[in-house]
Amino acid sequence: MTLRDKKGKIEVVIGPMYSGKTEELIRRVVRRTIARQRGVIFKISSDTRTKEEKVISRAGTSLEAKVVDVASDALKYVDEGFDYVAFDEVQFFDDKIVDVVKEFVNHGTDVIVAGLNLDFRGEPFESVMKIAAISDEIALLKAVCVVCGEDATRTQRLILKNGKWMPASKSDPVFKVEGEDIQIKYEPRCKDCWEVEE
Ligand SMILES: [Zn+2]
Repeated sequence: MTLRDKKGKIEVVIGPMYSGKTEELIRRVVRRTIARQRGVIFKISSDTRTKEEKVISRAGTSLEAKVVDVASDALKYVDEGFDYVAFDEVQFFDDKIVDVVKEFVNHGTDVIVAGLNLDFRGEPFESVMKIAAISDEIALLKAVCVVCGEDATRTQRLILKNGKWMPASKSDPVFKVEGEDIQIKYEPRCKDCWEVEE
């Protein structure tokens, strides 16, 4: 059996906002680069945090990335014989991402994904959980709760109402990108300090 007959492995890095997911993805890719592995990082064009062709962690580290409009665009690279591919902010990709990940795995390419565990309502992202279920390794990163200082596993959405920051409502749309709307902000919180309006 040649190496290429082996299926790829899936590494999942999940956690709330500000838990260092992109930093961890970059760290893993850098290690592979040192090991002379070939691969590419994908990001989706709807991730408006930066339109640049790179992934940038909040700590300031960055690596080159390919921007795709839909998940299946990544399949253009499936026959490249890459050792690995990585998907940052995987929750922003469309539902096809699960099949795309499987396709790379079947071609012997390892897949690293980084993304949110839960949305601001405390609900899992379906595609992220589906990938986690078929993964070989899951890392749950934690941030620091801004209220009490405990480990934070949740993302709090706050909205500005009459000059006061209030917990967002469960009926709000899931996707809103920070910076896009001045009335919204996010912060990491522990389970006890995290709140959502019913
Ligand atoms: Zn707390």
